Amino acid sequence: MLSIVLPVYNEEENIVRAYEAIRDVLVPKDIAFELVFVNDGSKDHSFDVIKKLSQEVRDAKILGLSFSRNFGKEAAIFTGLSHATGDVCAVMDCDLQHPPETLLEMYAMWQEGFEIIEGVKHSRGKESFVYKTFAKLFYKLISKSTGIEMYRSSDFKMLDRKVVDEYVKLSERNIFFRALSSWLGFKSAVVEFDVKERNAGTTKWSIKSLVRYAIGSITSFTTAPMQLITFSGVVFFIFAIILGIQSVVKWATGHALEGFTTVILLLLITGSLIMISLGIIGYYLARIYEEIKGRPRSIVREIVKSPK
Ligand code: UDP
Ligand code: MG
Repeated sequence: MLSIVLPVYNEEENIVRAYEAIRDVLVPKDIAFELVFVNDGSKDHSFDVIKKLSQEVRDAKILGLSFSRNFGKEAAIFTGLSHATGDVCAVMDCDLQHPPETLLEMYAMWQEGFEIIEGVKHSRGKESFVYKTFAKLFYKLISKSTGIEMYRSSDFKMLDRKVVDEYVKLSERNIFFRALSSWLGFKSAVVEFDVKERNAGTTKWSIKSLVRYAIGSITSFTTAPMQLITFSGVVFFIFAIILGIQSVVKWATGHALEGFTTVILLLLITGSLIMISLGIIGYYLARIYEEIKGRPRSIVREIVKSPK
């Protein structure tokens, strides 16, 4: 059986349509499937729609989980995967931006023996200029620091049972699904898809949440920024030695009062660098603090299942 995990946040218009689109693709091919809707603290009637769907649908298993509040898409994916029961699990967006037809392609590759099949964006669809630039910059940064190509990657993936079992064993609270599946290893393949336009509703990301997501995922996945601090520290130390020698020479030759500009510049530069570095360390500290609290990733308030 194929499980499909769909994170849901204020998607009441899209849930039934997502089910229908997936059904129309999978039923003709005789692929038994289960839909795992994870309601991530929606403020609309999404969960009522899921409940109703779970009671009405006969040609698929429907599992609906509802969080006690909005925990974020990553938490929704994780919790969805840990409740999925299929031999193979897919994760896709509920707004039909990930085309269900691609599921067939992925499924065929899974049957061929691949364990992670990643959906890769062939085109990114309609996005604003600012968003596009920001996304590009962010993924360049991550790709450089982790060595994983990220710009075209997405959360649209199909994972074998083995991979899911390993994934849900990971104990860190702040997980970055896109990058982690490549960290896990396994036999993986790539499938290209075109990002469709959003079916209904609006994107759930604000600039603020995107910046938070970017910083969060960088700090959870790489310590490169901290290494950058060390590196610039070393550069400055070399710089300081040269300047130190120069001032000693000046002092010895009797030109000591000169060089106030250098002093001021140095103060400013080192001051700001120290502040930036402290900020970066602060982010990692916050990460450690969050992890060490050991809180659950999400709290499931309610579960609905389709009747057997
Ligand atoms: N989503 C979620 N929790 C959130 C934000 C989004 O579960 O806090 C879900 C949303 O319902 C959708 C998917 O994540 O199924 C992708 O969200 P969206 O379409 O807003 O993002 P975009 O496609 O613009 O990247
Ligand atoms: Mg979307």
